[in-house]
Amino acid sequence: MELRWSDDESAFREACRTWLAEHVPTTPLPSGDTAEGFAAHLEWERLLFDARWSVVSWPEEFGGRGASLWEWLIFEEEYYRAGAPQRVTQNGIFLLAPTIFEFGTPEQQARFLPRMAAAQDLWCQGWSEPDAGSDLAGIKSRAVRDDAGGGWRVTGQKTWTTRGAFCTHLFGLFRSDPVAERHRGLSYFMVPLDADGVTVRGFGRLDGDEGFAEVFFDDVFVSDDLVLGEVDQGWGVAMATTSSERGLTLRSPGRFTAAAARLVDLYRRTILDAAERGDWVDPGLRQQVVQAWIDAEAYRLYTLADVTDVVEGRSPGARSSLNKLWWSELDVRLHEAALGLLGPLAELEEGAPDAVDRGAWMKGFQFALSGPIYAGTNEIQRSIVAERVLGLPRK
Ligand SMILES: Cc1cc2nc3c(=O)[nH]c(=O)nc-3n(C[C@H](O)[C@H](O)[C@H](O)COP(=O)(O)OP(=O)(O)OC[C@H]3O[C@@H](n4cnc5c(N)ncnc54)[C@H](O)[C@@H]3O)c2cc1C
Repeated sequence: MELRWSDDESAFREACRTWLAEHVPTTPLPSGDTAEGFAAHLEWERLLFDARWSVVSWPEEFGGRGASLWEWLIFEEEYYRAGAPQRVTQNGIFLLAPTIFEFGTPEQQARFLPRMAAAQDLWCQGWSEPDAGSDLAGIKSRAVRDDAGGGWRVTGQKTWTTRGAFCTHLFGLFRSDPVAERHRGLSYFMVPLDADGVTVRGFGRLDGDEGFAEVFFDDVFVSDDLVLGEVDQGWGVAMATTSSERGLTLRSPGRFTAAAARLVDLYRRTILDAAERGDWVDPGLRQQVVQAWIDAEAYRLYTLADVTDVVEGRSPGARSSLNKLWWSELDVRLHEAALGLLGPLAELEEGAPDAVDRGAWMKGFQFALSGPIYAGTNEIQRSIVAERVLGLPRK
């Protein structure tokens, strides 16, 4: 394995770094999970797009730079290193787009990808329902054939839809064959949220942001050209999307190596100062910081192996569940270490005069706690690893 970057890749890194240094907002934007913050993040997304940094690995015709997967990893490292804003377009560009590249018709690709890259169409994902989360195949929202209209009539409810209240489109699974076996008879639809019969109701998260929505469909007409992949074969299409969410694209290592570097910096600012003052310092904190750094680095190295597989035509498949387990649990430990370093100051939120780093560590911790839940809970991922990676018996 060649662990050095080529001259071209280093030049690409330099170009990313320079542009980001000149453009990343010096004051962090408000949370993208609030209406005001989402609007501010959209302006950022459009700036990225205008400079062709919004989807670097996509072909140029869709708004990208045709960058390799290696270069995409480099971009991600630089993006997070620069402390650039969260990607509020992530559900589209990181989850739906790879699925459209794999399953979409040329017409669907031309229609949706450029508008997604430009943050004109904003996508949320509609899997979960009030009675179907982990058991996704248990969804009840249904699609009934409308031959006269040339499409489908969709009825049901989705929930926990991240940023649904701010988005323009939803992708998700609907039951198109009511008598087929659970995993069969599902179709993958892409639905404009301004269609007649759609009601979107936002609701708050435990951290106070308004980032979730419930989406209700009441006999909503969806034309045939909005089905992604084959009718009744949506389960396989949806698994491609979830594999992107758990594996390479949603949570790249750059996010965690940058957070680990900030943690080391926090250690210097807090514990080293305290030690210099002669205060007693818990040696366990140092251990936690070092472990978080090692874990982030391990994820980076593991991802290099993953990318090698993809570049050589091998799909990571169920191994994406290993990624998800690793990054979600690493994120919790990393933030716990930060709260330990801050001690009582950890509880000060943004706006409090003595809040360290604008209260970002507590906010990050609260979000990290949801990591073992979203993208499929970690209990489910462990079962997938047991059965499909290790080949253990189902019971
Ligand atoms: C921050 C966040 C963002 C989200 N965004 C979205 C989104 O944009 N779109 C969307 O559709 N959904 C979204 N979700 C919902 C998420 O996908 C579900 O919460 C998740 O799939 C779990 O489903 P559930 O909440 O119904 O819990 P349940 O499935 O009811 O699970 C409850 C508990 O039981 C455990 N459990 C269930 N079945 C098994 C089993 N077979 N074996 C072992 N343990 C089991 C689970 O691990 C969990 O601990 C989001 C969730 C969060 C926290």
